[in-house]
Order: sequence, then structure tokens, then C-alpha cells
Amino acid sequence: MSDVPAQLWRWVRGEMPHDEFGYWLYDHADSIKVAVPTDVAAELTNLDFWPAPVTGSDAEQMRERLVFELPRRCACPLMFDRQRIPLGAQFPPHEFEKAFQTIATRTPWLRLSLCRECGQNWYVACDTADDYWYFERLDPGAAGRILELNQWPSMFDGWAHLWPADAEHRAGSVHIDEFRRGIVASFISGLSTR
Ligand SMILES: [Zn+2]
Repeated sequence: MSDVPAQLWRWVRGEMPHDEFGYWLYDHADSIKVAVPTDVAAELTNLDFWPAPVTGSDAEQMRERLVFELPRRCACPLMFDRQRIPLGAQFPPHEFEKAFQTIATRTPWLRLSLCRECGQNWYVACDTADDYWYFERLDPGAAGRILELNQWPSMFDGWAHLWPADAEHRAGSVHIDEFRRGIVASFISGLSTR
């Protein structure tokens, strides 16, 4: 089986609307068939993505099931593109190190890390004042610009806890609340398993 397409994971995470995913699926049924179990592929291609979005619709229920049923090597596919995880007993730094390899550091609290299982790149902030990890999903191009040109994305600029006290930094472009909690929290204990 090939990897589950990124668009299917986006829909499962709720980061792609039902109708947008329905249109994508219409054009990509073949790539779904080789990536998910046959019965799941059949259910997906027969699913109605177009009724008014109501809680408990077939599409809604299918999405909730697939969180558990789609094959994956690690928690990355279930993490939001901007994910916030409590920094505490459940996910202390040594657990982070087990799951992710840091390949570049910007400040003691900002780094570019790579999932040891799937190779996903993440721009990671470790806020030891408020006790949160913040993960921003990066595509290979953005990771390459960090590694080759030392050009870092701007989303953590201006976050006071992530920079030395005397650092001059631009105003922040991304608000802390844009990093979502949830979905992955119940998977932290098995972050790199399954
Ligand atoms: Zn991963």
C-alpha cells in the first residue's frame, strides 16, 4: 500500500471542508484505492459530501472513524498544521527527542525537527514559560530554505518566550490561538507507535 494522501488526512483532521474533499476525491479515487483498505475506499467513494453540513452526517461520522482506522506510522498525520501540545509529564523533552530529530536550531527554544518515523518537517517552539510545544507543519521547500539559506518562517517572530531577552525581533504575525489543541492529545502516549 502507498501512503495515505495528504489531502485525505487534511479532511480527517477537519482542515479541509467536506465538499472540497469530495471534489478532490472525485479526481483521485485511484490514489485512494491503493492507500486505504478496500472497504474504506468503497465507503469513501459512495459517501455523500454535499448535504448541508450537519452534526452527525455520514461524512462527519466517517471522518471520525478514519482517525482510528487509517494506517499511519506516527502521530504526524493526525496533528493539525498548527498544533499545540502541553509540555509536561505526558510529553517531556526526552519523549520529544524519541519521536523527533532536530536538524537545525534558531534559538534555544526554536528548532527545525524531523519525525523519525515519517520524515515530516516541523518548525517547533518549546515555550518553557507557558509550558507548551507548538508545531508548525513545513513542506520540504520551507525546510530546505532553513537548511540552505537560514531563512526561517516568521510565525514565531515576536513571541517573547522564544527569544533571548535582548533579541530584537519583528512584531508577531501569528497569534498563539491559531495553534489548535485537541485531536492528537489522546495519542501523545503512543506518538511514534501504531
Ligand atoms: Zn511522523
